[in-house]
Amino acid sequence: MRKVSGPTDRVVVVGAGLGGLAAALHLAGSGRQVTVLEREPVPGGRAGRLSVDGYEFDTGPTVLTMPDLIAEPLAAVGEELTDWLDLAPVDPAYRAYYPDGSTLDVITDTARMAAEISRVCGPREADGYLRFVDFARDLWQLERTDFIDRNFDSPRDLLTANLLRLLSTGAFRRLQTKINQFFTDPRTRRIFSFQAMYAGLAPHDALAIYAVIAYLDSVAGVYYPRGGMHAVPRALAGAAEKHGVQIRYGTTVTRVETSAGRASAVITADGERVPADVVVLNPDLPVAYRDLLPAARYRRLRHSPSCVVLHIGSRQPYSKIAHHNIHFGRPWKGTFDEIIKRGELMSDPSLLVTNPSRADPSVAPAGRQTYYVLAPVPNLDRGRLDWRGDLPTRYADELMRTLEARGYRDFRAGVEVSRVVTPADWADQGMAAGTPFAAAHSLFQTGPFRPNNLHPTLSNVVFVGSGTQPGVGVPMVLISGKLAAGRVTGGTR
Ligand SMILES: Cc1cc2nc3c(=O)[nH]c(=O)nc-3n(C[C@H](O)[C@H](O)[C@H](O)COP(=O)(O)OP(=O)(O)OC[C@H]3O[C@@H](n4cnc5c(N)ncnc54)[C@H](O)[C@@H]3O)c2cc1C
Repeated sequence: MRKVSGPTDRVVVVGAGLGGLAAALHLAGSGRQVTVLEREPVPGGRAGRLSVDGYEFDTGPTVLTMPDLIAEPLAAVGEELTDWLDLAPVDPAYRAYYPDGSTLDVITDTARMAAEISRVCGPREADGYLRFVDFARDLWQLERTDFIDRNFDSPRDLLTANLLRLLSTGAFRRLQTKINQFFTDPRTRRIFSFQAMYAGLAPHDALAIYAVIAYLDSVAGVYYPRGGMHAVPRALAGAAEKHGVQIRYGTTVTRVETSAGRASAVITADGERVPADVVVLNPDLPVAYRDLLPAARYRRLRHSPSCVVLHIGSRQPYSKIAHHNIHFGRPWKGTFDEIIKRGELMSDPSLLVTNPSRADPSVAPAGRQTYYVLAPVPNLDRGRLDWRGDLPTRYADELMRTLEARGYRDFRAGVEVSRVVTPADWADQGMAAGTPFAAAHSLFQTGPFRPNNLHPTLSNVVFVGSGTQPGVGVPMVLISGKLAAGRVTGGTR
């Protein structure tokens, strides 16, 4: 495995996102002197915090899976997850609502889930679910060590015995085709394939290898950290500082200083020069190339769709909803076509509504609720929508009307505070194509074909985060931190 060259004692990590923090912990655990320079006043990046009038909103991820991947960077400095985070399983993991008025709970416990599927869709569908669980569990085991949790130097690294096993399971067919082999009911077909969207693709285009995402949330389980998702980066940052990592907030890096094919320092917006033996870059990878590094030919990537997030602080509780609620619109393939192919807003939206305050009253004033409504929308490369005008307000109103039509009575009347975040905001925060979900996980942007975490010519510059390998989402980004550190220390193969 290739490593950075030269001395590696002093490492500067730019960005305290989950990727940067995980890298910092692994590096501190291996005895490096680590400084993290973060633009914002708090850690977490996309896993940030919005505080408005006593309401506490998570700005990014809400669905937490695979907590053992949070335990890993903590263990690198000898810390225990349970000393830093209070995690509770979310049960049901999701509640799905379909256009025909039926609902289906996604339950992590396999036997209970089979019973739920049998109740809603009949016993044959429950048998299909049990076969799906076996398939997806095998898939995760085959993919994890050889294709996700490792550094790649070349596509030849893919050639392992597990590749043949993966091929034989049908993992390189289309996800929707594979899911349809297990399920016949359109409702189960949707709930076990919509996760392709997390990888930036329609289930009809994504490879079946991405059934692992459905496995991670529907079978391995969804968790909620008390205080909200932002508690995760706070925990990682706290542990890092305890073990000697210096984290400097409110410090924007404007440039990586280079000479003779190496980075020698980073320069901050205040003109300060921070010398480094190794530089680890956590900003969105295309933006790091564009803004921080010397001009280089950089390949054009296809980006994932973006999203609008509506944060609502409300007087209105809804007793029949769960923590995470997925409301499917009528069309299925057509919805993906609208967003991804045609660059349009969904005509009959599928939405995620998260209601953290029902389990955790600490995130809202007494007797109040927080709602987080996520609507997939085209990214700025695809869409020609003008998010700088009055569209955010109009679209927020449309989303709230949609929710009212789907059973959230008097939703608008209950609103005390509201904020809407659009692709223009993601772009302003330094995310390429105005999407927080990075390059899509198409075949040629996955595994060794995804932008590498080593700079091609600067021999001591490493990337970390969702723009590089292995990819998008909290679990992958935490792994990316370990892989980036491995490029410095020589770990992870
Ligand atoms: C709305 C939304 C919903 C999501 N839902 C989920 C979910 O439910 N489950 C899930 O697993 N994942 C989800 N994700 C994805 C997940 O949040 C991201 O993949 C992950 O947090 C990205 O982490 P990162 O370290 O790559 O980047 P970031 O979090 O973007 O970290 C980069 C850091 O670098 C800092 N920075 C940038 N430029 C500079 C500079 N010049 N100088 C100094 N600092 C700089 C930034 O401030 C930031 O702190 C969601 C994301 C969003 C936005």
